[in-house]
Amino acid sequence: MADVYVLADLERGRPTDLTFELLTAGRALASDLHVPLKAVLLTNEAGLIAPSLGFADGVVAMSHSSLEHRNLEAWSRALLKILDEKPPKVLLIGISNGLLGLPSLVAGARGLPLISLCRSVTAHGEEIVGDPVLFGGKIEAEVHAKGGPVVVAVRPGSYSAEPARVQRTVPVENVEPPEALETRRVHFKRYADLEQTDVDITHCDVLISIGRGIQSQENIRIAEELSGLFRNAAVSSSRPLVDQGWLPRTRQVGRSGMTVKPRLYLALGISGAPEHIEGMKSSETIVAVNTDPKAPVFEYAHYGVVADILTFMPRLAEQLRKRKPVVA
Ligand SMILES: Cc1cc2nc3c(=O)[nH]c(=O)nc-3n(C[C@H](O)[C@H](O)[C@H](O)COP(=O)(O)OP(=O)(O)OC[C@H]3O[C@@H](n4cnc5c(N)ncnc54)[C@H](O)[C@@H]3O)c2cc1C
Repeated sequence: MADVYVLADLERGRPTDLTFELLTAGRALASDLHVPLKAVLLTNEAGLIAPSLGFADGVVAMSHSSLEHRNLEAWSRALLKILDEKPPKVLLIGISNGLLGLPSLVAGARGLPLISLCRSVTAHGEEIVGDPVLFGGKIEAEVHAKGGPVVVAVRPGSYSAEPARVQRTVPVENVEPPEALETRRVHFKRYADLEQTDVDITHCDVLISIGRGIQSQENIRIAEELSGLFRNAAVSSSRPLVDQGWLPRTRQVGRSGMTVKPRLYLALGISGAPEHIEGMKSSETIVAVNTDPKAPVFEYAHYGVVADILTFMPRLAEQLRKRKPVVA
């Protein structure tokens, strides 16, 4: 049976966290199928990057100046040539901003089975099974695909990147670029750097996340005091607080904000709308506090407290101050 391929997601020529997350996913799938795991590298200089993908059993590489940046026009044509010449059993593509449209482009061009927006991918015998989350989290499906190559689009944050960060020399199979790979419609201009003036909530161990239950901008101070009692913690929020200008956009969790996975997510006065849940449900431990015992957020919480957050937050802070040192 053919290999499991993972397409390396590159930014400024370096593999992103998502690349390693997918290699972790790919390794489990490849062992289920008893086939090798290979990283697919589309770049202008494969030799430099290949060793950082040493968690894979090998690298299938195509080098061309048009592949230097994640240009969908060039990347889709390059990927199709690789699929034609060395068809795998499964191709995993991470849904990064740069590669969002690529799985559909590639699957559509060759009429291949596509499982989109997955959080996990497994093998059941010869079938590849993915679990797309659709319509903002309202529908969780299980999709079985036969034949192949099966294209699977995986959501960021679904797997841990850590096991796959292995630096090792691996065999590299070079595939010649297709003729005329130069792009005609899409041209890379430049990377626009986001000004990083605020804390990065995607890297916090603890998030004190507040919703409309906080009631006033002045009360945010109480959440900040609580956050100060944990190591590597920050205040994050649901969207309405950001829309009102109470907190910067960098603190918003959810579909149109950040996807977070802290060790502890305290959801305070947040109802649990699907758009919010989408961004935080992979957190290790979720504690929800809400005055409404029927709030949907309790369905996703590991621990729930029916209480007024304006009473709960100072009480928790008081308890934490009694314990030293305070850690997450
Ligand atoms: C396309 C689209 C994208 C969206 N993207 C996002 C997104 O990225 N992130 C996001 O968060 N939302 C997003 N939304 C909005 C989302 O649908 C909800 O409107 C929003 O998440 C609700 O925020 P909330 O839970 O803070 O407010 P509410 O839904 O108003 O809930 C407030 C909760 O606080 C509780 N409460 C009130 N007072 C107290 C108190 N004193 N103590 C304890 N509990 C109290 C209430 O019981 C209630 O459950 C999006 C919507 C759309 C249409």
